[in-house]
Amino acid sequence: MSVVNNDTQVLKNYVGGKWVDTAGEKFGEVINPSTGEVIAKVPLSTKEDVANAVETAQKTFETWRNVPAPKRARLMFAFQHLLVKHHEELAKLVVQENGKAFKEAYGEVQRGIECVEFAAGAPTLLMGESLNNIAEEIDSEMFRFPLGVVGGITPFNFPMMVPLWMFPLAIVCGNAFVLKPSERTPLLATRLAELFTEAGAPDGLLNIVHGAHDVVNGLIEHEKVKAISFVGSQPVAKYVYEQAAAQGKRVQALSGAKNHHVVMPDCDMDKAVSHIISSAYGSAGQRCMACSAVVVVGEKGDEFVAKLKQKADELIMGSGFDDEVLLTPVIRKEHRDKVLDYIELGMKEGAELIRDGRKEMDEHMEGNFLGATIFDRVTPDMTIAKEEIFAPVLSLLRADTLDEALRYMEKSRFGNGATIYTKDAKAVRQFREEADAGMLGINVGVPATMAFFPFSGWKDSFYGDLHVNGKDGLNFFTRKKMVTSRFDF
Ligand code: NAD
Repeated sequence: MSVVNNDTQVLKNYVGGKWVDTAGEKFGEVINPSTGEVIAKVPLSTKEDVANAVETAQKTFETWRNVPAPKRARLMFAFQHLLVKHHEELAKLVVQENGKAFKEAYGEVQRGIECVEFAAGAPTLLMGESLNNIAEEIDSEMFRFPLGVVGGITPFNFPMMVPLWMFPLAIVCGNAFVLKPSERTPLLATRLAELFTEAGAPDGLLNIVHGAHDVVNGLIEHEKVKAISFVGSQPVAKYVYEQAAAQGKRVQALSGAKNHHVVMPDCDMDKAVSHIISSAYGSAGQRCMACSAVVVVGEKGDEFVAKLKQKADELIMGSGFDDEVLLTPVIRKEHRDKVLDYIELGMKEGAELIRDGRKEMDEHMEGNFLGATIFDRVTPDMTIAKEEIFAPVLSLLRADTLDEALRYMEKSRFGNGATIYTKDAKAVRQFREEADAGMLGINVGVPATMAFFPFSGWKDSFYGDLHVNGKDGLNFFTRKKMVTSRFDF
């Protein structure tokens, strides 16, 4: 049950450097997933709100585009300094609105800071290319230019890191930004806007319009929005990609996942178990790089499963503010209900429920808790093997060989991440060459890439061409202009 405090904070949009009310009348509730308490009300803004923010961003863009790159980079240095200063406070905010453990939230803030550090390298990143004498007395040069107003739409699961994948790099490239954070975790974005302003950002450079699908559609439909960066679930990613591309916009849409971890018989089994437990159950399985399917290869399968179950039994579930806790609540009760349906379905489809996390729900009725759940003897055609459940529910598949494990992975429509646990160089190489996913781990539980590399999902885990972060991010947020000059006149 939600508990509403009388002094519940009512969020506003941030447009042109001012906190403004929505033109609409609808509000959503921001709920602490551990306690059920309503911690804020968030405006479900209208297309009119979006249009105001985009027009404001466009005006700011007209001057910001001409600010020299080193000066733009200095804004990032100042912002980075403030983020470091407020590291702990930001992490606590993540715990409060998202529910994940403080240690994980602290790491998330760090990942976000690294994006700002990457963006601070703008003068080097933004350099063009040139070649003299492409023909007699003729030279050719390439310059980078910003796009204009860029829209960002973000999910609930990384309220700090995902917005920072987007707006620092977009802005340092000379664009202005309109951000629509998840309506389930909008507090962190609000705080980021305050800190960005304190760092010296001009009014109208970063604007925030809170809300849900109306805001998303407003951004897609507005002709002055030149590009959209999206991160969220698969159906919405596909929708945003198709609709925004149909409007002639540049789009990168990062989507859902079903990340397979392959356990080879020669691996250090204790270490593999420990990595899988933290990958599958950290953040309640709500990471796009979470391990959600394990393919156990070979005759030592039963030994692995027994060890995994034992470690899952030892997990402590509770509030993210408790240091001992790894297993935290899922984001909303409605989401947990969907997960419970998946558990029923898994049993109906013939998978063996060897650990039933539903039994641990009762003691924590206030929060959206679900104990660590494990299905064994899952086959690749079962729904629980195919769909993203986004919860502490792990599917174990059995395979005789690495070839067979790779075939299982090929069948998945998703290809965000995948990991192999082994000491066998030949297996590592085969996995590296053949695994059908964009981010691989070799004995690494969460092979998420850092800010200077692309975050590189494949198949239905990504729609678009240029990924977020690294040089891909730079190319996404800039367009190139070629100048060919003749000097013999
Ligand atoms: P979501 O799709 O529900 O929401 C994402 C954004 O889309 C939110 O801002 C939301 O308001 C908006 N939205 C939701 N429904 C919409 C609709 N019908 N029309 C228009 N806009 C809509 O995703 P979520 O639950 O917030 O986040 C979890 C999902 O994000 C998971 O699927 C996870 O795998 C994915 N994710 C992927 C990556 C990646 O790198 N591939 C990273 C983080 C999260």
